[in-house]
Amino acid sequence: MISTEYTEYAVESILALCKINSPSGFTVKAIQYLQENLESMGFNPYTTNKNALICDLGGEGEPLLLAAHVDTLGAMVRSIKGNGRIRLTWIGGFAGNFVENENVTIITRNGKEYTGTIHLINAAAHTYRETDSMSRNDVNLEVIIDEVVKTEADVLHLGIRPGDIVAFDPRTIYTPSGFIKSRFLDDKASAGIQIALAKYVMEQKIALNRKVYIMFTPYEEVGHGASSGIPRDVVEMISVDMGAVGDDLKTDEYKVSICAKDSGGPYDYNLVSALIEVAEREKLNYAVDIYPYYGSDVEASLRAGYDLRHGLIGPGVFASHSYERTHITGIENTLTLLASYIA
Ligand SMILES: [Zn+2]
Repeated sequence: MISTEYTEYAVESILALCKINSPSGFTVKAIQYLQENLESMGFNPYTTNKNALICDLGGEGEPLLLAAHVDTLGAMVRSIKGNGRIRLTWIGGFAGNFVENENVTIITRNGKEYTGTIHLINAAAHTYRETDSMSRNDVNLEVIIDEVVKTEADVLHLGIRPGDIVAFDPRTIYTPSGFIKSRFLDDKASAGIQIALAKYVMEQKIALNRKVYIMFTPYEEVGHGASSGIPRDVVEMISVDMGAVGDDLKTDEYKVSICAKDSGGPYDYNLVSALIEVAEREKLNYAVDIYPYYGSDVEASLRAGYDLRHGLIGPGVFASHSYERTHITGIENTLTLLASYIA
């Protein structure tokens, strides 16, 4: 197992990333944070036109790219209602009940921030009878802004406009028992793991068994994260993204999950086998699973026309796209699998 200082650094980075709002389309600050960290370690990362971050970790031959996404679910102001409340449009796919009663930050185009809460229209139990049966969707949920606003004009006066970003409070908690509870561990858990992997490679002067890039992508939740910008010499790509936990699956929060098949079909047979072999050799706590409703960055790359062997691994994340949870041992197993695969 990799030394605990790097697992702890991964957790530290995850907690820091969770503090930076980064719904798809609003990832500049999160990318900047990662870029500065990689530069301070002595790497030379660069950004693509659409602001994915790519960093060459060194090594020679058979170039491999590891990709985690820094964008998250979120919302956008769709319109301002006559009564001063805000109608939303979702960014990414999730059930409305996952964000009901969540605190939010509305970020205007000129950088002003206002807080508010997502509520059901007719929210009060003492004045309405129909609250149980109403669908939780972007029509029946709205934002109540924490400002004295009674009309659309009042809201416009604050500077809030359609197209402004609405970020959900991640409510990040790290418990003494090693659990990280937060929104957006999909995929900030993996972004933290990749940055810790870079630190490990640099500080421990790891002799890589091949050329290795890490990439942080900005639009995974809306489907085209890694559809562009993959370095031309890459022959193999692994999405480092959350492992799905549920029903009959064997992945849990303590494991690294190796995905054999998801909505996009089977992953590269030999690559999946090679990852299993490393997990066995290193005696990792791992599971091979099928994710029934899941698409990954590397599938976006394949659809865009890149010729790659493709894989997907990541720490098990419970309650994905809701209030998620993982455990430090899941982080440790994932980090160790990656570190062992490239050295
Ligand atoms: Zn994800």
